[in-house]
Amino acid sequence: MSTTGNNAPALPAAAVGPDESAHSDLVRQLLTEALSRTGSGTGASRTPQPVPPKGVPGLSHLSAVENHSPVPPVHPSAQPAAPKLAESEKSPSTPSGGHSPDNGESYAFGEPRCNGSYRPQNNRPDTKVANRNPLPGLAEAESATPEYYFLRGAQPAGKSPLACQSYPKTTTPIPKFDVEGVRRDFPALHQTVNGRPLVWLDNAATTHKPQAVLDATAQFYGRDNSNIHRAAHTLAARSTELFEAGREKVRKFLGAADAKEIIFVRGTTEAINLVAQSYGRKNISAGDEIIVTELEHHANIVPWQLLAEQVGATVRVIPINDRGELILEEYVKLIGDRTKFVSVAHVSNSLGTVNPVEQIIALAHARGVPVLVDGAQSTPHLPVNVAALNADFYAFSGHKIFGPTGIGALYGKAALLEAMPPWQGGGHMIKDVRFEKTVFQHAPEKFEAGTPDIAGVVGLGAAIDYLFKVGIPAIAAYEHALLEYATHALSAIPGLRPIGTAPNKASVLSFVIPGVANETIARQLDKQGIAVRAGHHCAQPAIRHFGLETSVRPSLAFYNTREEIDALVRALHSLKRS
Ligand code: PLP
Repeated sequence: MSTTGNNAPALPAAAVGPDESAHSDLVRQLLTEALSRTGSGTGASRTPQPVPPKGVPGLSHLSAVENHSPVPPVHPSAQPAAPKLAESEKSPSTPSGGHSPDNGESYAFGEPRCNGSYRPQNNRPDTKVANRNPLPGLAEAESATPEYYFLRGAQPAGKSPLACQSYPKTTTPIPKFDVEGVRRDFPALHQTVNGRPLVWLDNAATTHKPQAVLDATAQFYGRDNSNIHRAAHTLAARSTELFEAGREKVRKFLGAADAKEIIFVRGTTEAINLVAQSYGRKNISAGDEIIVTELEHHANIVPWQLLAEQVGATVRVIPINDRGELILEEYVKLIGDRTKFVSVAHVSNSLGTVNPVEQIIALAHARGVPVLVDGAQSTPHLPVNVAALNADFYAFSGHKIFGPTGIGALYGKAALLEAMPPWQGGGHMIKDVRFEKTVFQHAPEKFEAGTPDIAGVVGLGAAIDYLFKVGIPAIAAYEHALLEYATHALSAIPGLRPIGTAPNKASVLSFVIPGVANETIARQLDKQGIAVRAGHHCAQPAIRHFGLETSVRPSLAFYNTREEIDALVRALHSLKRS
C-alpha cells in the first residue's frame, strides 16, 4: 500500500502564475482530452449518462438506475459544444491567481505578516494555484448552486487570503427565519455553563436535538419497543413499521429513487468502511488507484488506506490551494486508467469548503469510475439530492443532523449494492443458512447484520421531519448570512488568521491566533459558556496544509444567532494572551 500526493508533472509556469486565463485554458484542454477519450461531453453531471462498465460489476447497470433521476435526460447533441465560462471567471474582480509572492520565494512558517497572518512553509507550486473552478460544466453546476453559498467578503478581490485581511462589512440581511422559535425546540440550548448562557458553536462535531427527536425516541422505548421483522405480534409490527418509515424518510431526505438504496449504519465512518470493504475488496486490486482529497476527514482516508494495504492498491490525493479549495486541474491529471474509485467530502469539516462534487462525479463517470460522497457536513446545512448529483454512494451521520448518535445512512445505487457482497455476517441479513451454503438477502438487509439501532432510526426520522418542517433551503440561506456575519466579525480580532477562506463555504470558521495556544483559546471561551473545538478535527492533512497541527473551530447551525457570534467576538477580544 502507498499513499501519494500528486506526483504528476507540475503545471507549466504560465499555469501557476497570476495569469489565470492561461491556467483555465490548460484545464479545459486537459478535461476536453479526458472526456474525448471516453466520448462524454460537458455537463455530464446534470445528464444521466450511461457509465462505461470497465469490467466493474454493477456499474454496467447504472444507466437503468439513473433513469430515476428527476433531471430530464438531455440528448448528447444538446450538450454545449464549447465550455461556458462561469460568471465569476469573467468578472474583472476575480483575484488574479494565487497570492504574492508567486516568484517561488519560500517562507518559513511563523513569519508574521501584517495583521498577524502567517505564510505557510509548504510553498508548493501546485497548491499556489488560485482555483476558480474553471472546468467546463462548472458554470452549469454553479447555476444549480444557490448563490447564498458564496461568501461575500471572504476573499477580497485581488487580495491573498494570506495577505492583510480587509473584509468588507457584510450587507446581506439575515433572511426571515424564526430562529427564536427554532431555539425553543432545543432544550439543551437553554442551560448555563460556567454561569453563562450556553453558546453551542461545536456543531461540526455534533448537534443538539429538538424535542421532537427526544419525544420520538422516548416514545419508541416507552411504548413500541420490539425487535423488528421476525415476529407476528403487534409491537414487532409497530417497530418494523417505524423502522421502515425511517428508511423512507432518509430516501426522501437524500432524493434517492428507492428506499432499498438506503442502508442503516452507525454513521458516516461505518458507511465508508462498508463501501471500502464490500465494493472495494471485490473491485479494487493490486496496482489500482483510489482518489481522495487533501481535505478529507480521517473517516474518508483511513478506510481506503486499510483497503489499499489489503489489496495492494494506492491512495492518491487531490491537493488543495491555500484557500482550502480542491485543485481540480490536479484531479484531471490524477484520474486515469488505474483509477478504480473516487471518495470525496461534500463539505470539509475543518475548512468549511463546499466541494464541486457534481463536477467531480461527472469527471469520474466519464472514465467509468464510481464516486462516494461523504455528506457528514453537507447534510446539516445544504439541500442534497443524490439523483441530481448522480452520486454512486452518499454517506451521512444522524447526530450531525440533529438526530441521535450511533445511527447514520449509506445511499448506494441499487445496481451497485446488488452486485456487492455482504461485509458483516449474522442474523437478519440471510435468507437461508445451512452449513453447506448460506443464501443472503438482497440490499439493504444484506448489509444490516444483527439487531439494528431501531430507536436511532426512529429518532433520525424525527430529525428529518423536523428539518423538512423548518425548511432546508431556508436553513441554508439563514446559515449563509450568519457565516458571512461571523466571518466579518472575526476579522476584527487582532492577529486572527482564518484557516479555510474558500468563497464557497458552509458552517465552519477555523482560525488560529498566533501566540495563543488553540486549546487555551477554547478553554477561555468555555469559561464564558462558549463551546468551540480546538484540535486537528480528524483532518490532519488538511490542517497541516496550512503549516499547523491544530486550529480553533467554531461551527454554526441554524439555531445560532448573531448575538452568539457577538459573544464569541467579545470573548476573543478579551482573550488573555500571555
Ligand atoms: N466525515 C466528515 C466530513 C466528518 O465531519 C465526520 C465527523 O466529524 C465524519 C466523516 C465521521 O462521522 P461519524 O463520526 O459520525 O462517523
